[in-house]
Amino acid sequence: MSIVLDLIQLPPEGDPRLHNPEFQKQIAVLRKPCARVTDFQDRGLQDLIDNLLMTMEAKKGFGLAAPQVGVSLRVFVAQTYPTNNYPKVPRTKPTVFINPVIQPLFGRIRPIKNVEDVIAKFRSGKAKLPGGTEYPTEVMREACLSLPGRAALVRRYSRVKCLFQDRFGNQQEVTWSGIKARVLQHETDHLYGRLISDSPTTEMIEGEPLFSRVVISREKREELREYFTAHPPPPEKVAKLKDLGLVM
Ligand SMILES: [Zn+2]
Repeated sequence: MSIVLDLIQLPPEGDPRLHNPEFQKQIAVLRKPCARVTDFQDRGLQDLIDNLLMTMEAKKGFGLAAPQVGVSLRVFVAQTYPTNNYPKVPRTKPTVFINPVIQPLFGRIRPIKNVEDVIAKFRSGKAKLPGGTEYPTEVMREACLSLPGRAALVRRYSRVKCLFQDRFGNQQEVTWSGIKARVLQHETDHLYGRLISDSPTTEMIEGEPLFSRVVISREKREELREYFTAHPPPPEKVAKLKDLGLVM
């Protein structure tokens, strides 16, 4: 019978537990690259998968990776469905991804109407040839079950292919875009020990009333400090900005 597992959660900077060696050991799993799954017959693996599915359901996440419950294996589960915050999200059934590999893809492939026109564009350097290194990306607000109460604006590829194995070890692939592609990238990041809080592409929308909940990259923080020195914020925002170290 499957059970709802306890989540490993990273408290915000300054939390006294972060100095406790026992606690440090416990949360280290979130920062460690996970091992590949090789034995699909293993009973422990199959139980882990069932428990991950049940825990994702219970915590209402779009995804949950094994390190988030303290297991350092390349396994995650994902599902999407419309919510109040994201009413347009398509519904996908809970899926198990093992040993996933993500490949970014170009956006929607449009049928070519006028071949001559396309060739002329490539010759003039106005269009990028397929196979180039630039893929469409988009920035969106993301949260994570391992970082309670926080969110970050993270840049992700708009469309990706994911090659993976299912729970029986069979090779599978999906090509997903939009929020579904984002979930795949977020969960795969967990398997490398990466969290939304340290994404080098984390951005903040200036003036958004989310200050206390948004994780701000170091560069952005310095930029914002300068900005607020030159443009003093309204008095009601000063306390929050001070908390974040954005105002002296
Ligand atoms: Zn997460």
